[in-house]
Amino acid sequence: MIEGFKVSSLVSSFEESATLALAAKAKKLLSEGKPIINFGVGEPDFVTDQRLIDRGALAASKGATKYTPVSGNPSLRKAIAERISSDYGVSYSAEQVIVSAGGKQAIYHFLQSVLEPGDEVIIFSPYWVSFPEMVKLVGGKPVILKSSADPVGALTKAITSKTKALILNSPSNPSGQMWKKAELEGFLKAIESRPIWLMSDDTYYTLTYQDEPWVSPLFLRPDFRDRTCVIGSSSKTYAMTGWRLGWALGPETLIQAMTKLQSQVTSSACSLAQAAVELAVGELHQEISSQLREKFRKRRDRMIAGLSKIKGLKWLEPAGAFYIFVDFSGAVPQGMTVTQFANELLEKVHICAIPGEAFGEPSFLRFSYALSEAEIDDGLGRLERTLKG
Ligand code: PLP
Repeated sequence: MIEGFKVSSLVSSFEESATLALAAKAKKLLSEGKPIINFGVGEPDFVTDQRLIDRGALAASKGATKYTPVSGNPSLRKAIAERISSDYGVSYSAEQVIVSAGGKQAIYHFLQSVLEPGDEVIIFSPYWVSFPEMVKLVGGKPVILKSSADPVGALTKAITSKTKALILNSPSNPSGQMWKKAELEGFLKAIESRPIWLMSDDTYYTLTYQDEPWVSPLFLRPDFRDRTCVIGSSSKTYAMTGWRLGWALGPETLIQAMTKLQSQVTSSACSLAQAAVELAVGELHQEISSQLREKFRKRRDRMIAGLSKIKGLKWLEPAGAFYIFVDFSGAVPQGMTVTQFANELLEKVHICAIPGEAFGEPSFLRFSYALSEAEIDDGLGRLERTLKG
């Protein structure tokens, strides 16, 4: 940069998304002809269903090429309200929905709309990389708690007069773990007597693989609807990452505040994506989401079978999403950190997995299984040979 010009101290103070940065490095190596197996990707490898692509194209040819209302097309907001009301058993109206350019933007707008400088937001680790950085970005303070031992007790102890929100993400990126009913009940009880928002990031709620069903906090306490911001996204549920379409549901006053903010930031989400997602959350929801779930279930099983052959690794079986979070502390060569090992894996073995450091757990690596079964086998074969060698 020219002398005298510099990036603001705010932007300098937070980290670039580690997952996107490493994924970009892997893509670059791939474009140079390196045989990369990319376990770093946070997106389905499938192309969006052709009927959704056609719906977007049809909308364009019919003239839907203009700005939409700031909070989204009323018909899409209604379709999302109906989808969530039906899946969660809690009634939402279109006015309680805002459509944004991805779930990521909806989360940012939520945090910006409710936090004052210095307010604390409680986040369990391992966490999705962007949660703490976004909290910092809007002047808040992330308070990180371990999810392993007594999470309800840890939450109860961590609450202070500055606590403004609790973020839950189930199934979780990066671990694929889901909170159990009793844990959720404990969390809700811990915050109920205080003015603490609950942000429930349900980006992966349709991708679950256990007999034990996914539970939304709202199943247990529908009255929490007035203090909960539910985050959702078309990205993973319908394999639409590039369309950039996500949403938030919450009390009308919150949605109005987020809409005001969005009006000054992006004006609206993409008009064509909105048309396609209306078809996805409505008519095609069951078909597409269950197809994806079955595909990812197979890959998860393949991944677990492959990892089980490698000595020294530990993980908790993922109940959902498409990630497995693996403890490498017993496997990396002596004198090397897991993050250094991840860099070696990428540069020398051409396997990309994301260092757990980015998710608050430095002895882990996150593997995404949004890859073909042949790639999973190839990548895990390489990993096994490296660790043996
Ligand atoms: N929340 C979680 C937990 C995620 O993993 C992601 C994406 O990786 C998002 C939100 C945001 O997704 P998008 O902005 O593509 O809707």
